[in-house]
Amino acid sequence: MECIFCKIASKEIKAKIVYEDEEIIAFDDLNPHAPVHILIIPKKHIESILGLNDEDALLIGKINLAAKKIAQKFNLSDFRLVSNCGKKAGQSIFHIHYHFLGGRRFQWPPG
Ligand code: 5GP
Ligand code: ZN
Repeated sequence: MECIFCKIASKEIKAKIVYEDEEIIAFDDLNPHAPVHILIIPKKHIESILGLNDEDALLIGKINLAAKKIAQKFNLSDFRLVSNCGKKAGQSIFHIHYHFLGGRRFQWPPG
């Protein structure tokens, strides 16, 4: 399948992996927007939040727990977890992913 994130999950394409378990992999974003900018993805290919089914509930819950582990690993008590869904929301890779951003102050509301 021509999906960059599937290829990262299968190690066909290299990435700086910061967390991995059977179902989830997290790696440094190639173009970071914060001192810590990590992408957390399920290894299973799902296009976006709109591609989720009821049976994915546990998997998506585990993404939040992976975020907690990453926060602890980087000693961060302040961070942001974002999933862009759809082109107009900023999604450019259509394999669901959660941006973990930390290490600086963030604006709210976002732009
Ligand atoms: P999106 O715009 O879909 O929310 O986020 C996609 C993210 O993937 C972007 O922040 C972009 O920098 C990152 N990205 C795109 N291609 C690669 C790649 O080949 N390796 C890594 N590590 N990140 C990538
Ligand atoms: Zn994929």
